[in-house]
Amino acid sequence: MKIDTIKTHILDHALETAFESASMRFERRQHCLVEITCDDGTVGWGECLGPARANAAVVETYAAGLIGRNPLETEKLWLELYNRLRDQGQRGLTVTALSGIDIALWDIKGKHYGASVSELLGGRFRDSVRAYATGSFRREGVDRVRDIAEEVAGYAREGFHGVKIKIGFDVEEDLRVIAAVREAIGPERRLMIDANHGYDLLEALEVGKRAQAYGVDWFEEPVLPEQIGTYRAVREGQPLPVASGENWHGRYAMLEPLSTRAVDIAQPDVCGVGGLTEMRRVVDMAAMFGIRLVPHVWGTAVCIAASLQVMAALPPNPPRREPIEPILEFDRTHNPFRQAVVTTPLEHAQGVVTIPDGPGLGIEINRDALRQYALKEA
Ligand SMILES: [Mg+2]
Repeated sequence: MKIDTIKTHILDHALETAFESASMRFERRQHCLVEITCDDGTVGWGECLGPARANAAVVETYAAGLIGRNPLETEKLWLELYNRLRDQGQRGLTVTALSGIDIALWDIKGKHYGASVSELLGGRFRDSVRAYATGSFRREGVDRVRDIAEEVAGYAREGFHGVKIKIGFDVEEDLRVIAAVREAIGPERRLMIDANHGYDLLEALEVGKRAQAYGVDWFEEPVLPEQIGTYRAVREGQPLPVASGENWHGRYAMLEPLSTRAVDIAQPDVCGVGGLTEMRRVVDMAAMFGIRLVPHVWGTAVCIAASLQVMAALPPNPPRREPIEPILEFDRTHNPFRQAVVTTPLEHAQGVVTIPDGPGLGIEINRDALRQYALKEA
């Protein structure tokens, strides 16, 4: 079995209403999928976290060396590709692009052996996961207190087990949003807050201390991802559990935050951390340091499918407890191709998502949707 072709698909949709987190403004939805075809006709799919065009360019840089290679040798190919751009890479786009390739190779491997990726990873500890809704981005014309409370009340009615809201804009306004959201979702549902590294240390400490009254589950990316020492200071100086990891790509980026206990919850994204090959290592590292791991998920159904396979195979830690984690992040922002790219959408039912058990990622790609949402070059 040999790799025949590697192709990227940049999906694109112009949003009617732009939205923003504390660190990023979204005017379009763009995601990069990776398609790898083998000489026996087997096709594998992957996805890269982050800017689609830039990821596609790096995937193309990697692609030449993969043609004619054995796609089942995932570890060997991962190391070769990582070495190729190691001197300029180590984290960021070189690793997010590698993630998309690696996931596609695991999809091929699963299809070849007639096994789901979670079986190949060592077995399924669960067949479904509970989900929380991510939304509440800032939008023009939206009252962040009133309208966000209404938005999250809708997620609660849909049955989501928790909501994650966007903060990191303004301390006082953010605290009013947090209070209104807790009121809107009631006392039982989990509430997570995500600052997208919009605060400095003093703001993060202030928010963490005052948000405790509202029963916050975790405080995500309070400060800049490069400043691991600042994470430790946030963790030590306020009462909320600190979560982060979507911007720590690869195991070396994860080492310091895990080994120095800069976070309580690690959030690697399989489409950004280096694919399934590297995710496995990060899962082991987090477990060794006794740090809870809850994957970050932001992408199309390909990314959701890969994340679900990881979550199926995530060993409960400690082993005998019936764990509340992992809980699946379910992005509720507007994205018309998120589920359209697969023939069977990976939807939730009353806040629970069933993990596919078919070969590979367990999904079927809808090529009509790829054509419909393909980026039109200007
Ligand atoms: Mg986040």
